[in-house]
Amino acid sequence: MKLDSSVQYLKGVGEQRAKALAKLGIRTVGELLSYYPKGYIDFTSPYGPADVPPESVCAVKAAVCSVGQLKRIGGGRTLLKVYAADDSGTLEATFFNNPYISKKLKIGEEYIFYGKAVKQLGGCEMISPTVISANTAPEFCAVYPLTAGITSAYISKCVKTALEMLERPLCETLPQEILSEYNLPSYDYAVEQVHFPVSAKACENAKRRLVFEELYIFQLGLFFMKNQNRRHGAIPLEKQQLNDFYSHLPFTPTGAQKRAIDEICADLKRDIPMNRLLQGDVGSGKTLVAAAAMLVSAQNGKQSVLMAPTEILARQHAETLSRMLSPFGVNIALITGGLKGREKAAALAAVADGQADIIVGTHAVLSENVKFSSLALAVTDEQHRFGVNQRGALSQKGSKPPHILVMSATPIPRTLALLIYGDLEISVLDEIPPGRTPVKTYLINSDKRARMFGFIKKYIAEGRQAFIVCPMISESDSELMSVNEYYEHIAKPLLPDCKVGVMHGKMKPQEKAEIMQAFSRGEIDVLCSTTVVEVGVDVPNANIMVIENSERYGLSTLHQLRGRVGRGAAESFCILVSDCKGENARDRLRFICKTQNGFDLAQKDLETRGPGDFFGSRQHGIPALKIAGLISDSHILYLAQTEAKRTLQKYGTLENIPPLYNAVEKLFGGGTALN
Ligand code: ADP
Ligand code: MG
Repeated sequence: MKLDSSVQYLKGVGEQRAKALAKLGIRTVGELLSYYPKGYIDFTSPYGPADVPPESVCAVKAAVCSVGQLKRIGGGRTLLKVYAADDSGTLEATFFNNPYISKKLKIGEEYIFYGKAVKQLGGCEMISPTVISANTAPEFCAVYPLTAGITSAYISKCVKTALEMLERPLCETLPQEILSEYNLPSYDYAVEQVHFPVSAKACENAKRRLVFEELYIFQLGLFFMKNQNRRHGAIPLEKQQLNDFYSHLPFTPTGAQKRAIDEICADLKRDIPMNRLLQGDVGSGKTLVAAAAMLVSAQNGKQSVLMAPTEILARQHAETLSRMLSPFGVNIALITGGLKGREKAAALAAVADGQADIIVGTHAVLSENVKFSSLALAVTDEQHRFGVNQRGALSQKGSKPPHILVMSATPIPRTLALLIYGDLEISVLDEIPPGRTPVKTYLINSDKRARMFGFIKKYIAEGRQAFIVCPMISESDSELMSVNEYYEHIAKPLLPDCKVGVMHGKMKPQEKAEIMQAFSRGEIDVLCSTTVVEVGVDVPNANIMVIENSERYGLSTLHQLRGRVGRGAAESFCILVSDCKGENARDRLRFICKTQNGFDLAQKDLETRGPGDFFGSRQHGIPALKIAGLISDSHILYLAQTEAKRTLQKYGTLENIPPLYNAVEKLFGGGTALN
């Protein structure tokens, strides 16, 4: 048994369970061990039955005094009542469909009952609590984030089996000097303790080590990429004539756009690869900045590539760039997964023989059959950042590594950006082009939906269009309506005279592109879709954005969605529909109603939803961290950064330390940037 063995080889894991585990991202034994608990049940100080806090999930210690008769209650179900007590009062526990419990419990013995407790006169009541003998109960019991068919107890059991079957002690990744310097426990100890802590202190220590390790590997990866880039010279792009480009634009670039272009041009002149993040709120005009950089590349007889997260967006960028740049004799090729046969062959040939100056596409541009003749600049739009692997793939595509520009609409506070984008320079578009009117944003309950449709109809009659965003089909949550149901049962009946379209992520890229184009051409009035429209899509004629179940999204996502409208001077609207009663959620929604600034919204997201959610969205393309929080653990992040720097100074390069190199590759490589 090794860390990369499949979990199916563990005793007690069959095909069915392996599938359920895979849904949690657990395929290998190593992934199982790094599936960390989200919390622990504390058995160290259980309550007595009479002093439980009102309506809480807690542990109650009491001795069993009687076990009732098993009753049949229809539907093939059974019910059993158990009474337990201490000096203070009585616990009444009810078990459904659990006849075995009567065999397990011994009268007079003490047990710990864990579950939701409801106060009663002289004690409390619990429904189907977990029961553990007070003698054998551990002090802490791990609780894991779960999916259907998997319980925390099952994961605990699997981890236990894995720890028995693996060769111990588990292999250490951190250098010995770091362990001593920071007084960190071994990996073997840390893994065991994080899953089965003997005490709160041991658990804390274990976590500290695992957090340190993750952030250290993270920082090593960032430095590695930076050095990797610096090591090989890039192609200097010295010819830079943008005056004609500026004068051909239908508008004047903002000061921020000009400044960003100047910063980029200065980088492109050098023979060190540029590595720059362009941060700008939705609608700040990042595409124009990319276009200028790509034009410079073409002026030097070199190719550049623009990679977009979706096919829809790639097509749209190809059109925009072609409009802006074809007056200068620049040729653009579009490469996406949906391209077929002759069209595809022609595009590939144009890229290979240098006819195409600019290549726009999805991650399909990274595939092996795409051969560039002279790649000098790579731009990614939204979301992605090139991982170690992708960067490698790109470097191999040119004689020298390309200059890299990463564009992102998700604003991160600057100090944090410097820590997590340690290897990037940053340009910020902090100015929105003039002439925009803020998007009027309203929060409504679903009972106002009919009125809302009346409002939409009025604008459609004037020739405008609307987006309606709904959740994707979700089996586990029956309160949500899928986009298909919404389209059939709500939108179509309530908008009888309008052309209503539907689009979701499970459609083929070609299908989505066709629907989006039809919407662009005005052949669809109202588009019901999932958040696939979130990134970048530009249909200036659309002036209403409706977001159903809006409480489900982070503020940054809502802001991105809202950014799909309000692209012209005309009045536009964002309607957030939510029946959610949670004060926290409503507070967030009210906040976005009065705030247009992406930075303020990101900050609020951080405060109210925590960094987990904020970074979980992967908008930043940083790897998904399993245990560390970039904000909550920022003091450790700082130490990890110092140590990573030291390690690289000592060993020269990461390749000289294979276990660390592998760890970095695992963190950055495994599907982080490009899915
Ligand atoms: P984003 O930063 O969200 O990618 P885009 O590049 O899509 O923004 O630009 C949003 C819209 O603003 C586009 O319709 C674009 O043509 C327009 N735009 C960009 N720069 C300016 C400018 N300086 N003045 C007026 N409109 C602009
Ligand atoms: Mg954009």
